[in-house]
Amino acid sequence: MSNDFALAVEDLTVSFDGFKAVDNLTLYVEKNELRVIIGPNGAGKTTVLDLICGKTKATGGSIKFNGVELTKFPEHRIVQAGVGRKFQTPSIYENLSVLENLEISYPKGRSVFGSLMFERTQDVTDRIIEIAEMIFLSEYLEKQAGLLSHGQKQWLEIGMLLIQDPALLMLDEPVAGMSVSEREKTAELLGRISNGRSMIVIEHDMEFVKRIAHKVTVLHQGKVLAEGNMEKVQHDPKVIEVYLGH
Ligand code: ADP
Ligand code: MG
Repeated sequence: MSNDFALAVEDLTVSFDGFKAVDNLTLYVEKNELRVIIGPNGAGKTTVLDLICGKTKATGGSIKFNGVELTKFPEHRIVQAGVGRKFQTPSIYENLSVLENLEISYPKGRSVFGSLMFERTQDVTDRIIEIAEMIFLSEYLEKQAGLLSHGQKQWLEIGMLLIQDPALLMLDEPVAGMSVSEREKTAELLGRISNGRSMIVIEHDMEFVKRIAHKVTVLHQGKVLAEGNMEKVQHDPKVIEVYLGH
């Protein structure tokens, strides 16, 4: 194996009361790569992200990001190592404006309390404007986040991660509940932001996967069932069986 991989997951296992939700998983993601993980419900997709971001501790195996072992790190150290993760349901501050949500997420003003003391410098303002444009929310900076559409909330949360400029960005079902046009804009957004970093996206919508994936990993019962480009994976008899079997 070459050493160009930004993320190297090797023999990763987690066992919940004897049940292996992730079972000896090996996975490499390059810089500038957008990897999509697909698989039936319960395959272990979300658990893989939980393990990488430190929310769940591994029973065995290793997760190296740019050569740094993450499995022993607490969650905040993993964030500091450049890993950002979005959960399935958007977690934004509903009572704050779009601008305030982005501001709070800016690395220097992370806590709500900190942000009150936080001077809004030109650098911060410029970055917020740049991110707001990227996530299609320039016109909504003063809007209360709770009043945004579901899709806009998803974009805002992506923006809150982007403002921290993570080297590895992981998104769990980012287009769930989005309209067709929101999906199209999200595909375009993800393509743009995968440049210069590594990304892992979990997604069910195959049309969407086809549009965004550089490479697809199919997970089944905590193991890699197939891996490769969309074309290859789609025609893999093992993959067809697992999907039709459901
Ligand atoms: P997916 O995201 O692919 O649908 P998950 O990773 O959420 O699947 O779950 C994989 C399996 O692990 C499921 O059977 C789920 O019930 C189980 N699981 C996930 N997290 C825990 C946990 N903290 N404790 C016990 N079982 C869990
Ligand atoms: Mg899941």
